[in-house]
Amino acid sequence: MMPAPAGPLATLATLVGPGVISTDPAELEPLLTDHRGLYRGKALALATPRSVEQVSRILAFCNTMRIGVVPQGGNTGYCGGATPDETGSQLLLSLRRLAAIRSVDPLNYSLVAEAGCLLAQVQRSAAAVDRFFPLSLGSEGSCQIGGNLSTNAGGTQVLRYGMARDLVLGLEVVLPDGRLLSSLSSLRKDNTGYDLRSLFIGAEGTLGVITAASLKLYPQPESTATAFIAVPDPHSAVGLLARLRSATGDQLSSFELMPRLALELVLQHIHGTRAPLATGSPWYLLCEVTSSRPGEPLDALLEQALATALEDGLVTDAALARSESDRQAFWRIRESIPEAQRRDGASLKHDVSVPVASLPEFLMQASAWVAQHVPEGRLVAYGHVGDGNLHFNINQAADSAAPRLAAREAEIRRAIHDLVRGFDGSFSAEHGIGRLKVGELARYAPPVELALMHAIKRSLDPNGIMNPGKVLNHE
Ligand SMILES: Cc1cc2nc3c(=O)[nH]c(=O)nc-3n(C[C@H](O)[C@H](O)[C@H](O)COP(=O)(O)OP(=O)(O)OC[C@H]3O[C@@H](n4cnc5c(N)ncnc54)[C@H](O)[C@@H]3O)c2cc1C
Repeated sequence: MMPAPAGPLATLATLVGPGVISTDPAELEPLLTDHRGLYRGKALALATPRSVEQVSRILAFCNTMRIGVVPQGGNTGYCGGATPDETGSQLLLSLRRLAAIRSVDPLNYSLVAEAGCLLAQVQRSAAAVDRFFPLSLGSEGSCQIGGNLSTNAGGTQVLRYGMARDLVLGLEVVLPDGRLLSSLSSLRKDNTGYDLRSLFIGAEGTLGVITAASLKLYPQPESTATAFIAVPDPHSAVGLLARLRSATGDQLSSFELMPRLALELVLQHIHGTRAPLATGSPWYLLCEVTSSRPGEPLDALLEQALATALEDGLVTDAALARSESDRQAFWRIRESIPEAQRRDGASLKHDVSVPVASLPEFLMQASAWVAQHVPEGRLVAYGHVGDGNLHFNINQAADSAAPRLAAREAEIRRAIHDLVRGFDGSFSAEHGIGRLKVGELARYAPPVELALMHAIKRSLDPNGIMNPGKVLNHE
């Protein structure tokens, strides 16, 4: 039997009642390492509250005792934001038991979900009333909606529906001192003062704990056309994007770019995948057009637009999904790229964005830099090109004698992020800052922005208990 918690933990356990605070190493162990294995922390204890009231008591107590609190959702984040530090003094607060869908309103096209609901659960709840929740990520079976909002996640449908932030109507947040900000509005219009809830979206748990959200729903897509397309270069991809947006009446929902190497890695490492096109190409696109109108001839529309693009040299080959299983096979390739990369070995990841029109030029300059300065790496730059977002990743070359990429991480990151800045881009398009990019934010954020962020942090969390060491440096 586990010894009962002692000292402040015993007081906390009494405050929240039985079964919420655990120091069981077996329970804590899997939660102490981040998804990418970059960080391994220790924790004072694990809290798994079952109610908002318990979250509130936990934060109020930790605020009084100056105990750091690290919120954790599905722990799929890429920047180490949900991992406690190595001191063993921070409380890990898992939202996994706060996982009810509180209400679904098909007439208002909205639902209210608690923070610990898996993203896939939110999608299913919407589908059950013939509605659509468009946030879609490769991790949707394990990430939580609270984590998605706290990282302002992007994914594959941003082009049409926006980032996680754009899907929020209202939020419920426990503030660091335990007070409840209950703003679970389902209004589409509400201009009453500052937009406070926006502060907590993308704050990565540094300003409070999101406990529930009121979310926008959409009509279900009833007609879909999906194509796997070969293009000669990124310039053609961006040209095709502009063309397809108007040719489809802006019904393009996804537009994903991948280089040949990404496809090769998937075919090599992911069982049961096969190349959709017979001809090789330096670049491929996966694009999807959807409509909520049943029976709309989107295949014909897309086929026609691609045929014209083929004549004009923007496209060299294309395959349309003729069945749902074709469609799933195309998507499996795209969604398996991170896993294929992982199986291939170590890699350096950069989650960057530039204005869509600048993307080809950025890719050309950044690829040339990698070719010249990182001969031990293989570039796998893929991503949500419809949003100007690239996962500009460099995999370790297979040659075991080659120098280790990891040893040059800081230098390579600096060069790529400096280049991104030159294009008025972002060094963190959708993955956030977490612990990994605290230095980058301090370096690249305009001074006034950074000062305002610190002022907001001080004002909401004067004792600095919320996710210490994440997003912002200590002042
Ligand atoms: C295979 C795979 C594919 C992915 N694809 C994408 C993609 O396309 N686009 C994208 O944007 N991301 C992607 N990700 C990254 C990740 O899934 C997202 O960042 C996701 O939103 C994190 O959710 P989570 O519940 O796992 O949060 P966690 O990793 O647990 O936490 C992330 C941050 O949010 C904080 N947090 C969590 N819950 C709360 C809460 N309730 N209140 C306050 N703070 C909280 C944590 O402290 C931490 O700082 C992918 C990850 C994987 C593994």
